Amino acid sequence: MSIPVRAALRRSTRHIAPTFARAASTSSTSGSTSNSSGLPASSSSSASSSSSSSSSTPPPPKPKRSSAWLALSLVPVAAYYLWPQSKKPLNPQSYSEHAISSNERISPKHVVLGVPVSPSELPQFAQDAVTLRGQHPAPGEVVVQHVMVKNPALMIERPYTPINDVAAEGEMKMVVKRVRGGEVGRLVHSLTPPDNVGLRGPITTVSLKPDNYDTVIMVSTGTAVAPFLQLLAKAPTTVGTQFKLLHMHPLAGEDWSAPLLTPLQQKWGGKLDLKRIPPGSVRKDDMQQALAGSGRVLVLVCLPTQLMRPLCGPLTPNLQQGPLTGMLAELGLDGSQVWKLE
Ligand SMILES: Cc1cc2nc3c(=O)[nH]c(=O)nc-3n(C[C@H](O)[C@H](O)[C@H](O)COP(=O)(O)OP(=O)(O)OC[C@H]3O[C@@H](n4cnc5c(N)ncnc54)[C@H](O)[C@@H]3O)c2cc1C
Repeated sequence: MSIPVRAALRRSTRHIAPTFARAASTSSTSGSTSNSSGLPASSSSSASSSSSSSSSTPPPPKPKRSSAWLALSLVPVAAYYLWPQSKKPLNPQSYSEHAISSNERISPKHVVLGVPVSPSELPQFAQDAVTLRGQHPAPGEVVVQHVMVKNPALMIERPYTPINDVAAEGEMKMVVKRVRGGEVGRLVHSLTPPDNVGLRGPITTVSLKPDNYDTVIMVSTGTAVAPFLQLLAKAPTTVGTQFKLLHMHPLAGEDWSAPLLTPLQQKWGGKLDLKRIPPGSVRKDDMQQALAGSGRVLVLVCLPTQLMRPLCGPLTPNLQQGPLTGMLAELGLDGSQVWKLE
């Protein structure tokens, strides 16, 4: 719904701007005459009295000053019409345009899109973020977020997940995969700085307090590792939690995720156990190993439905968690120990 509304707004802005331009040019071209007809009566009478005494003294340069004042007085009007289009802040409810700062290819199918975030927008990625409980994060709580990217030509949007700590870096970095026939991926891959991209967000993906767990196990493949990269980037290393990331090897070609994981391994040292697992269904051995001695454990699963189903059961059609089934249930976990990410 918001896209047509936004499109309507953009259309009306396009109409307004030329109207303003015409109004400004009309004012300035008529400025020299409007000093006698359009300015306040006191100025007007002062101008005419000056002209009546022009034979003895040169007239003061009032017309120019009046034009300058008129132009100055139009600045707020110009700002009113031009500012909202270019400076509307990032927010979850409606789209705003954001100039990208980089779009770096990291594999034949993947780019990292950089989008700067202004200081006034940054609190949404930190203290003003919204947890799954609908509150601002408690101390030590981490909110993982995504943003919606729109393709205005087709009026569609897709979610993408920053892989970094946006509040700390002042920029969103998103790995975007181009899939065959994919319309938003195609759009993102075609962008070059300083092109604009339409965004709304941030929107909460998951939130957790790592300190509540001895072990947080994360299971992912492909770009589904993005929320875990963000979690590991945002969480402070002071937490006593052991993180274990089970991330599938790419099916073929280069492994774009390895260079993104290296700085996180440096940040976390022995507190991050990174295990690359074979593509396809998650093997019981790998899960059992990860769960061994895990204490208070939370398993975060971000996989396509066909891989999520045998591991823990799918999300429901309306994206609720649904019952815990599959391998993790067989291994003795209950629903409170597993969170399925869309
Ligand atoms: C919460 C959330 C966060 C996400 N974060 C990211 C992210 O950080 N980076 C990212 O690249 N994607 C992410 N995605 C997926 C993304 O939103 C899009 O679904 C994906 O980019 C395809 O969009 P598209 O418009 O290019 O293709 P579409 O037009 O949606 O799809 C075109 C065709 O490609 C198929 N397809 C869709 N996705 C894939 C895929 N991954 N592999 C193979 N075929 C596919 C579709 O079934 C369809 O047949 C996220 C999804 C969710 C729900």
